[in-house]
Amino acid sequence: MATKTNNNGRGVVAAKGSAAEGLRELFLDGLKDILYAERALVKALPKMAKNSSSPDLVTAIENHVTVTEGQVQRLEQVFEILGETARGKKCEAIEGLIKEGESIMEESVLGPVRDAGIIAASQKIEHYEIATYGTLVAFANTLGEEEISGLLSQTLAEEKDADVQLTETAYASINFDAADEDEE
Ligand code: FE
Ligand code: ZN
Ligand code: FE
Ligand code: FE
Repeated sequence: MATKTNNNGRGVVAAKGSAAEGLRELFLDGLKDILYAERALVKALPKMAKNSSSPDLVTAIENHVTVTEGQVQRLEQVFEILGETARGKKCEAIEGLIKEGESIMEESVLGPVRDAGIIAASQKIEHYEIATYGTLVAFANTLGEEEISGLLSQTLAEEKDADVQLTETAYASINFDAADEDEE
């Protein structure tokens, strides 16, 4: 049965031949997107750590690299449960967020100011991941994939935790030190 829609054809994007026709397919597309994103982050985060001056920030980011490696493995487990190949699909959003992080580094002097910029860029990344995993958990629940929902919920909790740690690191001193630089 066709669903009643409110569009009359104008502004409607044409679906590709490979377009998802059901929630399960959309879910799989989302998993491929976040797998690509997590793998990209494993490569990108160490550069952010190298550009950080505060030992607390370096520790927070380095810890999150380890956590992110575990998230990649968890996603590979999800693909295995689904009987699918763990192949990522280019995530335009993470490419953009990583690029934005790189320009923030170029546009800030090494020290507390760059640290504040790195925290800002990292939190945008964490929020993107929180939004993504929140949706994927909801999809898994709707599809009755309890085991997968449990795995993705663990990752969601880790992303939220990383976000909190970054906020705490910022308030602990970095933002104040960065603000002091304005006065010198
Ligand atoms: Fe992640
Ligand atoms: Zn994406
Ligand atoms: Fe956006
Ligand atoms: Fe993360």
